[in-house]
Amino acid sequence: MAQPRQTPPVKRVHIKTFGCQMNEYDSERMAEALGTAGYLPADDAAEADLVILNTCHIREKAADKVYSELGRMRLAKEARRREGRDTLIAVAGCVAQAEGQEIIARAPVVDLVVGPQSYHRLAALVAEAEAGGKGLVATDFPAEDKFAHLPQRARQRSKPSAFITVQEGCDKFCTFCVVPYTRGAEYSRAPSEIVAEAERLAAQEACEITLLGQNVNAYHGRGPDGQSWNLARLLRRLAELPSIARLRFTTSHPLDMDDELIALFGEEPKLMPYLHLPFQSGSDRILKAMNRKHTVADYEAVIAKVRTVRPDIALSTDIIVGFPGETDSDFADTMALAERARFAQAFTFKYSARPGTPAASFAGQVPEAAKHERLRRLQSLIDTHRRAFDLAAVGRRLPVLFEAKGRKPGQVAGRSPYLQPVYIEGPATLIGRIAPVDILAASPNSLTGVIKSGFEWREPVQAAE
Ligand code: SF4
Repeated sequence: MAQPRQTPPVKRVHIKTFGCQMNEYDSERMAEALGTAGYLPADDAAEADLVILNTCHIREKAADKVYSELGRMRLAKEARRREGRDTLIAVAGCVAQAEGQEIIARAPVVDLVVGPQSYHRLAALVAEAEAGGKGLVATDFPAEDKFAHLPQRARQRSKPSAFITVQEGCDKFCTFCVVPYTRGAEYSRAPSEIVAEAERLAAQEACEITLLGQNVNAYHGRGPDGQSWNLARLLRRLAELPSIARLRFTTSHPLDMDDELIALFGEEPKLMPYLHLPFQSGSDRILKAMNRKHTVADYEAVIAKVRTVRPDIALSTDIIVGFPGETDSDFADTMALAERARFAQAFTFKYSARPGTPAASFAGQVPEAAKHERLRRLQSLIDTHRRAFDLAAVGRRLPVLFEAKGRKPGQVAGRSPYLQPVYIEGPATLIGRIAPVDILAASPNSLTGVIKSGFEWREPVQAAE
């Protein structure tokens, strides 16, 4: 007699993502790779057969935070085991790359450690762990192109705004940064691969694409014509895709802001007027100790050129206070540069040593109290400029890309060209569309407005100002 066919049990994966947009992108790609291996997403770790912590090494005490998260995972795993269910635990991301085998030694609950360069091997590694493999570690920098070995992007939740990693790793070796050690040498994907990925995202209703890379403007992919394409050329090619209305890129290094890329801000309407350009310190002496390879004058020359071609641009930056050896006078130089540059947004950090980086062993570590006070003063200055930038939008009509429902019922949330969050009262049918919004007010972290009177909400439209 024929046996009834057994349906394989549904397996679920929960990915908890820490840190930057590149980690968010990586988590999506990992979910897609595991989807082809039969794993469906789980919103709750307690329901998952596989839990992945996609970690970030940028923040202070990143590894400690991962170990305390793993302590909680161990308890959850034991609870599931008492119900007769097993859970595999994987650690991915930059802490996985930096700590490697050490994670298994300190947290034996972990079944698998996988670094960012090995995600194309994730499904095979998970299968090995399911078959009883213990303490698997994949943190080498393989010679093959991991992107070419990841499955093609499958249909997923449609999102109006999507990320594509185009470049990974960094050769700059700033003395405070772990990226060259955790993400490896600079690598650029081929333009044809990126364009194909953008076309697939556009078919899934994405109309804004942000190109990601640790040093994205150092992009130099080999084009179909055999030539090396820079970021400007890649952006121009992507701007030809009719369904893509907005392009952005992040994060850039001042030295790699070539004239062609700067000019594009004035030439290509799809390139949004927003540039994230870290300067880190306003003191040449500290920039040298950081091995940033640029001076304050270099930085200011770049932003002056950018503002010449796009005077309204929203400039954003990263700044570190309390780098080893930073004096009150160095910090005053940082404040002065921030005052001159008037950033629309800035990410400010107290220096904290990353194990394995040169600056971790530099003399002249700055006391915590001094770092704290400098950060407070800098943030207060940055807030003043950010507020002034937002207030300047009041009374203007801005095209807003709506991305999600707002926090309050009946509200939808979107982004202005300058990446400001914008809230309006309106229907969810606006999500995924660009519509003209009259900005009425600026609150500390967002803008509010109303849709231009007479705008037809139901028509598919890519409206300009
Ligand atoms: S350029 Fe950026 S990613 Fe590269 S080492 Fe410096 S801070 Fe790190």
